Amino acid sequence: MTMPELSAEGETIFRGIPVSGGVSRGKILVIGRRESEVPRREISISEIPVELLRFEHALLETRQEILEVQKQLSDGLGASDASIFDAHLLVLEDPILIEEVSRLVSEKKLSAEFAFHQFSEKYAITLSKIDDDYLRERVADIRDVCSRVLNNLLGFGNAFDLRHLKEPSIIITEDLMPSTTAQLDRKMVLGFATDIGSKTSHTAIMARSLEIPAVVGFQDLSKQLQTGQFALLDGFNGLIILNPTDATLFQYGQLVKNRVSLREKLKDVIDKPAITLDGHKITLSANIEKPSDSEMVKSNGGEGVGLFRTEYLFINRDTLPTEEEQYQAYRAVAVALKPQSVVIRTLDLGGDKFLTHLPVPQEMNPFLGWRAIRFCLEEKEIFRTQLRALLRASTEGNIKIMYPMISCIEELDRANDLVEQFKEELRSEGLPFQEDLEIGVMIEIPSAALIANSLAKKAKFFSIGTNDLIQYSLAVDRLNEKIAHLYEPTHPAILHLIKMTVDAAHRNGIWVGVCGEMAGDPVLATLLVGLGVDDLSATPSAIPQLKFMIRKLKVEEARKLAEFALNCDSGKEILRRAESLAREIAPSLFDTQKPFASS
Ligand code: PEP
Ligand code: MG
Repeated sequence: MTMPELSAEGETIFRGIPVSGGVSRGKILVIGRRESEVPRREISISEIPVELLRFEHALLETRQEILEVQKQLSDGLGASDASIFDAHLLVLEDPILIEEVSRLVSEKKLSAEFAFHQFSEKYAITLSKIDDDYLRERVADIRDVCSRVLNNLLGFGNAFDLRHLKEPSIIITEDLMPSTTAQLDRKMVLGFATDIGSKTSHTAIMARSLEIPAVVGFQDLSKQLQTGQFALLDGFNGLIILNPTDATLFQYGQLVKNRVSLREKLKDVIDKPAITLDGHKITLSANIEKPSDSEMVKSNGGEGVGLFRTEYLFINRDTLPTEEEQYQAYRAVAVALKPQSVVIRTLDLGGDKFLTHLPVPQEMNPFLGWRAIRFCLEEKEIFRTQLRALLRASTEGNIKIMYPMISCIEELDRANDLVEQFKEELRSEGLPFQEDLEIGVMIEIPSAALIANSLAKKAKFFSIGTNDLIQYSLAVDRLNEKIAHLYEPTHPAILHLIKMTVDAAHRNGIWVGVCGEMAGDPVLATLLVGLGVDDLSATPSAIPQLKFMIRKLKVEEARKLAEFALNCDSGKEILRRAESLAREIAPSLFDTQKPFASS
């Protein structure tokens, strides 16, 4: 259980894992839990008519919502499936429910939401005890429709669909899927905090990409907070501060001001190259999830794309994207960023990213299972569609293809054979493509790092996926908050694997990048530069500070740091060294990250 810290002034601080920087404050919306989410509020006699009117409006609003869902369903599925919502509409008209809630408001002087919550819970519990299958089955309907009414009473509208929130809110929930996160409305979601998760989950990565402040790994925060409470979310230091005091709000006001002035300072470097003080050039590219992200790549001074996670073209939809759709998506990025290179990763489904419309069997260990290239080599039609789209789009700019999760040479051979086969197809159809299109390999499994020398002979580049490389090398599930402290990018084993990969790449005359989250951290970037990495690829908003850091760094001191790290057996000590170098050469990057409001 998360133990909050209470201050004498009445604020309560919860600590989690910071995953996406930024500060926001506002009303909390707890999702996915019904019990005790409505605070008891007593009202005065004069408020009774207002509360009764609110109740009536909430019922009408809910009726409208249900009719809309019913219409969408009957358009898509047919009338019989949509008729399940008739039961929901009947609940809204139930005279007992309306009379009882109105009585609780008028006689007990309870707010409409509390009265409604009290009665609807009792209603559902009573029904669930009746020895009648039909009535028992209706309990789920009642809970569903009652949640809708409650959300309307609380001003959160259709909170089942986070795309259509009515009021800006901080979302608190047990977990958010990467697909749901991808659809969040940045104007309405001020930030989010989840009970589970860690820094390199795809939910966290997506939050950084959308620049939504987020903190994860609170364990049971969603059970401790209630919808409607006021809180401040600090995505830099991993805090939720419930009922923040004026002093805390003032401190955070300063922090936000510092961020603004840092952003101004970083603007100066955006259009400059990432060159160290002693003239060593690093390519700083971007990780993106959708074609429109190319705008952010340019505005943040990214040099092309080092990782396009194409999975997001496939999720949140009912059918697979066609070859033409994919062609348009890849082409759009290539054209927007021409002549810079755009590394497009083939489909990396599985792990924590799934398709709703594709029945993939549930697995005990999805991260060790049928994912990425393993999936594509079997689902050849899906792979074929993507590869054909990529090949065709390659005439429009500087596209490179990259395979995820390569664990052995045979997988690389098989994937390359398929590319050759599809090139042949296109040739016979008279469709053009770039003949010498470069194909690279992600090094994210320890076995791939260990055979990097062989892989380098058949690849044009490497990109080290440290998110997975760390989870597989250290046996630390990248989603599990309980062992997040063991997920250590500076563990000597990781640095040795990176060094081996860099040496193998350079020995064979190919470039090597890092596109895991390690590359976006300015402290760790110094270490990666010292280890000889040529390209760092990070979420677009991280690029200015990376560039700022690199322009303050001497490659000689980075190499010394790496040499120290390769001879040190403590990950913590290595991190301390890297931090002290980074703070010494670029102190202003750290002004805005002081832990605030600690106990
Ligand atoms: C990685 O594993 O480091 C990586 C970049 O891929 P993903 O985070 O999408 O698994
Ligand atoms: Mg990966």
